[in-house]
Amino acid sequence: MAVGSELLTPFRVDTNSLFITERLNTVGFDVRLKTVVGDNVDELSALLRQSLTWADLIVLTGGLGPTADDITRDAVASVLGLPFDEDEATVARIRERFTRRGMVMQEINRRQALVPRGAALLENPNGTAPGLWMEHGKTAIVLLPGPPREMKPMFEAVLRDRLAHLGGGFGLFRRVLKITGRPESEVDARAQPIYGPWAHQEVPISTTILAVLGQIELHLTATAASAEGASRVLGPAVRALQRALGDDVYSVDGSALEEVVGAALRERGLKVAVAESCTGGLLTSRLTDVPGSSGYVDRSEVCYSNQAKIDSLGVPASLIDQHGAVSEPVARAMAEGIRKKAGTAVGIGVTGIAGPGGGTPDKPVGTVAIAVLSGTDARVRTFQFVGAREMVKFQSAQAALNMLRLMLKPSAADGAS
Ligand code: AMP
Ligand code: MG
Repeated sequence: MAVGSELLTPFRVDTNSLFITERLNTVGFDVRLKTVVGDNVDELSALLRQSLTWADLIVLTGGLGPTADDITRDAVASVLGLPFDEDEATVARIRERFTRRGMVMQEINRRQALVPRGAALLENPNGTAPGLWMEHGKTAIVLLPGPPREMKPMFEAVLRDRLAHLGGGFGLFRRVLKITGRPESEVDARAQPIYGPWAHQEVPISTTILAVLGQIELHLTATAASAEGASRVLGPAVRALQRALGDDVYSVDGSALEEVVGAALRERGLKVAVAESCTGGLLTSRLTDVPGSSGYVDRSEVCYSNQAKIDSLGVPASLIDQHGAVSEPVARAMAEGIRKKAGTAVGIGVTGIAGPGGGTPDKPVGTVAIAVLSGTDARVRTFQFVGAREMVKFQSAQAALNMLRLMLKPSAADGAS
C-alpha cells in the first residue's frame, strides 16, 4: 500500500511498489493486490481491515513523517488495537541526527519515535523515521518510509532476510531476453512453440512477451529454492530461445543496446564518429550513457541543415540535389565525412524525417536513412518508422545501434549491402 495524497495527483507516481514487488517475488511472495491511498485514516483503515482477512504480508510505504498528515502509524495501530509507547532510544537517535546537522529537534519529531506496542523497529540509516514490523494473527505488517532513498536501503538491510524466512525458502527468478529489429508478432511466432510447453513441465517457466518502443523483451520466470536451482531450469531455456531467435537477441543479462555495442567496440579496439541529422544527438547521447564510452566514442556532429551537411561533413551539394537530404547516398556521405574528419574506423550517418511535417508521398514521415561504415564494410538502409516525432527519433537511434551491433558480430561479417 502506497500511502500519500501526493500519489493521487497527476504529479507524483508510486514507484516504491515496483521495487518492492521485485524483491518480494525473489523471496517467494506473490503480489496479489497493490493500492495507492491518500493520507486519510478512515480510508487506509478500511483497506487494512479488508487485507488482514486474507494477506500473509502487508507492506506499507509513506506517511511515517512527523507532520499531522502522516497517519500511517496511527491507522495501523488503531486497526490492530495497539497503544503507542515512545521509544527513548529512537528519540535520542533522531535528536542526534538533528544535532549533527547543527539543528535542534522539534517536539513534533517525537511522533516518529512512537511504537505500537510489540512492534519491532527497523533501523533507518538514511532518515529519521524508523520502519516498523508487526504481526497480527497470520499476517505480518511492515511499515516503510516513503522516500525511495530511505525505503530501498532499509528493505535490503533489514527486511530481505526476515521476508525470505517467511516466504518459505522458494523464490521467483527471472531472466530477460532483449530483442530488436523484428516485430512482436514475428518474435512470438518463433518463440511461442519453444516456450509454450515450458508452462507445463516439472519446474514450470512462465513467459511474458513485452513490447516496448523499438524493442521486445521476453521475460522467463521460474520458482526455485535457490539461484542455482533457477539457473538449471532457466539457463537452457534462455539458450533455446537464443538459438531460435538468432542474432535478433542482443542481450540476456539485462544490458542495454548501447552497452552491448560499446562492449563490442571496446573489444575490437574500434573508435566511432557519428553524424546525426533527424536524431539531433540522441544516438550519441545513448552511446555516451555508458560509463567508459570515452574509450570508443571519438566525436559527433549534429548537422541538421543541408548547408551544415555540406560545410561540416563534405556532403556534395549535388548529391543532396539529386537524391534529397533523406536518402541512402546522403546518409553514406555523412558517415564517410565524419569518419574522415575523425580518422576513426567506424562512422555512422543518420538522416530522416521525424515529422509531423516534412513528409512527401515519396518519403513519408518516419522515413530514415542510416549508414554504418566499419573498415571496408558498409551497411546502408532505409527504414520506415511509425509514431510521433520522439518515437521516430528513438527508433532511428535504436536501428543505428543495432546495425552497428550486427556489423561487429563475427558471425555477421558478410559484406556490404
Ligand atoms: P512520506 O514518507 O509520506 O513523508 O513521503 C515522503 C516523500 O517520499 C514523498 O513526498 C514522495 O516524494 C516520496 N514517496 C512517498 N511514497 C512514495 C512511493 N510510493 N513511490 C515513490 N515515492 C514515494
Ligand atoms: Mg506522505
